[in-house]
Amino acid sequence: MREKCGIFGVCGPGLEAARLVHTGLWTLQHRGQESSGISVSDGETIRTHKGPGLVAHVYDEAALSRLAGPMAIGHNRYSTSGALAHNGNLPDVSRLVAFLENNSIATAGANDSELMHRAIEYRLSTGASLEDAIRECFDLFTGVFSLLLMTRNEIAAVRDSHGIRPLSLGRLHAGFIFSSETCAIDAAGGVFVRDIRPGELVVVDKGGLRSVQLVNGEEKLDIFEFVYFARPDSILLGRRVNEVRRNLGVNLAREHAVSADVVIPVPDSAIPAALGYAGETGLPLDFGLLKNRYIHRTFIRPAQSLRENGVKLKLNPIPEVLRGRRVAVVDDSIVRGTTARQIVEMLRHSGAQEVHFLVSSPPVRFPDFYGIDTPRPDELVASGMSVEETREYIGADSLAYLSYEGMMHATGLPESRFSTSCFSGVYPVDIGPNAIRQKVPR
Ligand code: 5GP
Ligand code: MG
Repeated sequence: MREKCGIFGVCGPGLEAARLVHTGLWTLQHRGQESSGISVSDGETIRTHKGPGLVAHVYDEAALSRLAGPMAIGHNRYSTSGALAHNGNLPDVSRLVAFLENNSIATAGANDSELMHRAIEYRLSTGASLEDAIRECFDLFTGVFSLLLMTRNEIAAVRDSHGIRPLSLGRLHAGFIFSSETCAIDAAGGVFVRDIRPGELVVVDKGGLRSVQLVNGEEKLDIFEFVYFARPDSILLGRRVNEVRRNLGVNLAREHAVSADVVIPVPDSAIPAALGYAGETGLPLDFGLLKNRYIHRTFIRPAQSLRENGVKLKLNPIPEVLRGRRVAVVDDSIVRGTTARQIVEMLRHSGAQEVHFLVSSPPVRFPDFYGIDTPRPDELVASGMSVEETREYIGADSLAYLSYEGMMHATGLPESRFSTSCFSGVYPVDIGPNAIRQKVPR
């Protein structure tokens, strides 16, 4: 499952592509922390370096200097040797599996990215160009994908017909960059050009860039990118994520002004929303919770006891900001509710007189199948409990969520541009019969 993924590719004469991809992946670390891989082509050979862990741990100077060539793609979380990088999830692979089995290609144990890779590879082996191979396989890929593919002399970028996961195009000197988010184009020294369109295939080779619209796409970006997932310094659908998040906080204040002495964000993801909330209410904002920047999920994952204590590892209260105060704490989302519960306890323990929990998105009632780590329905606190029951469960004096309309308004874009499945239960891409996945610890 490639739910939390960042992908990045670079192609251009004279570029040290792998080093630029390394920078890009470092900047996209928030999209995936489990493993990382880069494949590079020098025109003759494709070389790959990959490993478990953070970008900072996977690559050293020796590894990067072995990855010479003007063309490279990379992936935070997982990369296969033939060079395919995937952000998304195919909830239903039955057509893809049938195609592979009809052509006597093994499918056992392969995940959705590997199945896609095998289908493309099969077409290439029958003599198709990369462009034709993707064109012919596109209909088999039923689900969500932003993909980068590389052969020895070209890179292709393709997005599913709904564009649920982002993918942007940038320029760097005479070359091109593909990136999950624009923040990594900035970091690599490039200039953002435009988003890859839903259903569009872009191929870059020695002759330059060409674009083919494979199907008429209908954009449905996952709104959770704005709520939590993307970095605030990225641009999605022409909007700076930071600005949308502030608007979420402003709208939350308009809907739910509470009597409080101080507004505190749950860092880092809720900082823009808390700023918006404080600005709109006129309440002072302060940092009552400090985040340890060096704790990552890979660290928290192995031991269950550590996970239960995860919030203490990650967040530490500053009692002087909280003691005797009525605290309005802003977070971007409640999914399982375990984080909120631990935060409320932590704030009370530090002397907060009242704790009002404010959420800058609506209740997450439905699981996600398109590439975000939201668990099964029975683990979503809002799918089984009312707001009042959730308030009691997390132990807050009050609990308020932003309305669906308030969230939509904050984007400044029409509802039709988004997939809102985790809030609405409306799934624009067929989730297939085997849609319920195993839970992924966070
Ligand atoms: P929960 O309610 O599941 O305990 O956690 C909610 C918190 O997790 C919020 O602070 C939010 O910023 C964060 N969050 C929301 N969605 C995701 C996700 O997909 N993955 C991870 N790691 N954190 C998330
Ligand atoms: Mg958070």
